[in-house]
Amino acid sequence: MRILFLDQSGKPGGAELCLMDIAKPYSDRSLIGLFADGSFKDLLQQNHLPVEVLTTQKIKVSKESNFSQGFKSLRQLLPLITKVIKRARKYDLIYANTQKALVVGSIASFFARRPLVYHLHDILSKEHFSQTNLRIAINLANRFASLVIANSQASQIAFIKAGGNPDIIEIVYNGFEPKLYQKSESDIKQLKQQLELEGKFVVGHFSRLAPWKGQHILIAALAQCPPDVTAILVGDALFGEQDYVKKLHQQVAELGLENRVKFLGFRSNIPQLMAACDLIAHTSTAPEPFGRVIVEAMLCRKPVVAAKAGGAMELVEHGMNGFLVTPGEPQELAQVITTCLQEPEITATMASNARNTASQRFDMTTINQQINLLLSEKVNI
Ligand code: UDP
Repeated sequence: MRILFLDQSGKPGGAELCLMDIAKPYSDRSLIGLFADGSFKDLLQQNHLPVEVLTTQKIKVSKESNFSQGFKSLRQLLPLITKVIKRARKYDLIYANTQKALVVGSIASFFARRPLVYHLHDILSKEHFSQTNLRIAINLANRFASLVIANSQASQIAFIKAGGNPDIIEIVYNGFEPKLYQKSESDIKQLKQQLELEGKFVVGHFSRLAPWKGQHILIAALAQCPPDVTAILVGDALFGEQDYVKKLHQQVAELGLENRVKFLGFRSNIPQLMAACDLIAHTSTAPEPFGRVIVEAMLCRKPVVAAKAGGAMELVEHGMNGFLVTPGEPQELAQVITTCLQEPEITATMASNARNTASQRFDMTTINQQINLLLSEKVNI
């Protein structure tokens, strides 16, 4: 099957990292078309995946855009759409991985007469999107997509609630290669030394810096934890959230936590960094569509605490393979962190169980087989 994958982002967020894994089995007969240049292209090239940047013009439409902004941007998209139609004729299928890719992919699917698959990595709700964007996404998916792949039950439910056709949507979780998440004790020791984290109880947060990812909740929780608890914040403001970054630094200074919070920026060695942590915290204040970091923590055999909403609730069973806390409640989070600090044996057993179940449930080979089966059965090529 020859696939034209489309993604709007130049930077590797969760949806892009997932796409990279899905595209691997088709790499000899597919193309990944991006709507922006950047580090995601470099990452795809490093992984020997065929990639083309289809436009470098910034698409002036955001998750909050209204109808007239959306209409204006459609005119601006014409050269890109024309290019995608041309490319699509050489492939059997268009696979849209993001919302803007869905818009372009839908029109291209119509003119190039190629089936369209939409991989839904978002919770299509008013918390995350404007009414106009919701309507556009739902209508295009209903009208043009042969198949919608939702990354969780939470994403599937929101799609249907917003008016999406329940007959075209299937759930497939993100896949991972468990062996990439096993690190040796000597590597961990070395990294802890480099980062000056020896002897500390380290809470790791791995996410782009954005208000709804809730790094401020972890910082507030830290102020209520014993002084040997330290946090590392791994990730960068991928989509221009510089004001939030400034606020986080201010919050750290106001609470006098300069020696207990490290901002490490975007990193590509996530398994190593997770291995150097004692606990991984997920603190999103709005429902998370899936939450790759939660599964990655489990695969690293690390205890994980996640905000109880959206896809995170499908991944974590409280007290069994991790902890769930109320989103936006630093005090509750501080309590879990303190429990993990004081009761390492219990949390180690939990983390070990979590690794075993996550290795099976999210195994990349099985997940890629599921996708291949869906493409063969549900899409008429
Ligand atoms: N990540 C990364 N480098 C960083 C921070 C995060 O590679 O500095 C990865 C992280 O390991 C995870 C992904 O980015 O695989 C984020 O996915 P998630 O589903 O947690 O959130 P999203 O970005 O999709 O909202």
